[in-house]
Amino acid sequence: MMGEQYEASRKDEIKTNLSNVQRRIDKAVEDAGSKVPQPELIVVTKFHPASDVQALYDLGVRDVGENRDPEGRKKAAELPDDLRWHFIGQLQTNKAKFVARYADAVHSLDRVRLVHALDQARANTGLEPLKVLVQVDLDPRPEQERPSGIGPRGGVAETQLHELVDAAMDAEHLELKGVMAVAPLGLDPTESFERLKQISQQFRERKQDADWVSAGMSGDLEQAVAASATHLRIGTDVLGQRGSVN
Ligand SMILES: *Cc1c(COP(=O)(O)O)cnc(C)c1O
Repeated sequence: MMGEQYEASRKDEIKTNLSNVQRRIDKAVEDAGSKVPQPELIVVTKFHPASDVQALYDLGVRDVGENRDPEGRKKAAELPDDLRWHFIGQLQTNKAKFVARYADAVHSLDRVRLVHALDQARANTGLEPLKVLVQVDLDPRPEQERPSGIGPRGGVAETQLHELVDAAMDAEHLELKGVMAVAPLGLDPTESFERLKQISQQFRERKQDADWVSAGMSGDLEQAVAASATHLRIGTDVLGQRGSVN
């Protein structure tokens, strides 16, 4: 049987990967001349088993990311209560009632309808307001000029950002914390994240404490840190390759 030996070596592997990622983050902050915030690390655990999340927990990680319900819901129910679940994937409105129960933050707010669904759902839980980030589509290319064969990377078009922000600010059971983006494929992530930084600055003129900038994945965390990301979402470089496409 796989048993304890497997578990111990898996835990060692995660520990090593985690400290390598933490070292990369520290170096990126240093390279930026410490003009940037020290970002929070969110370990993206989607497609990985609950035992991996437990291993992360034992290593001191409290912030984890999931992109699908019911996968996130199931893990949240099994694992310690003081984990903070960050929902980072496209969310159907009919799943809002589940996610509103276990999520500490939803990074992927992309339409007004979802604002209303999450606001109502969170109200029904009796919990404190749900933190939300508006996901911005940073791709300036028209749909037909984007690389084919990849799914949409999500987010609201910049032209519709204002309306979405207004709705989120009006929602009593949501707390707007800032912006999130995924760097568009085939474009320079530095430029994309600089744009996100500008959007974040405009944002804070409207809501001063909405200062989260969720950006950066395994392949572009350095560029995200350089552009003042406050939250990094790292999966592969901590937990390894995922079993299937996502
Ligand atoms: C999966 C995912 C990540 C993590 O990506 P890695 O390349 O595995 O680090 C980050 N953000 C979002 C929105 C994701 O879906």
